[in-house]
Amino acid sequence: MWAKYKQTNKIKKLTGFLFGYFYLSKMAIHFRDGYVCALCGKRNSIGDEINVDHIIPKSKYQSSHPWNLQSTCENCNIEKSTQLLDNVPIYIKGAKDRSEDFFNESWEFFEIYRLFSIIYKTYNNPLTKSKGYEYSMDFDQMFFSSIIDMPNNWDKISDFIDNK
Ligand SMILES: [Zn+2]
Repeated sequence: MWAKYKQTNKIKKLTGFLFGYFYLSKMAIHFRDGYVCALCGKRNSIGDEINVDHIIPKSKYQSSHPWNLQSTCENCNIEKSTQLLDNVPIYIKGAKDRSEDFFNESWEFFEIYRLFSIIYKTYNNPLTKSKGYEYSMDFDQMFFSSIIDMPNNWDKISDFIDNK
């Protein structure tokens, strides 16, 4: 009985710790972005319904690199119009600039990248896996830098990703 209680308690503690850890990690993106929704410009506050949005949707490219993440209102994140997707290069450039201001140490940056890959289950990027990377931060950075240089046209960006 006691042993079982102790075990359950241990699991509860561990779950709580992991939840807190994951929760805080997501907060890093909201802090980096100053709680301003990248899509509508509204300044949210702690406790509002907010989301961490993948700028290039996970269905298209599996990466949770901070350059691909931005803070948005929960509602703004629900549906992405083509018009929004056209502006992907601008959003990624913004997330990159804010990341460079916010995250200082490169090892910390790598750890947060690795953690986000686990949280969002994006460690299975077939594209980078096929190139032999497990965590492919450098590959992602080259990839996102190429996207930043592209015209604001989702059809072209989408073709580029498919042919990568
Ligand atoms: Zn919004």
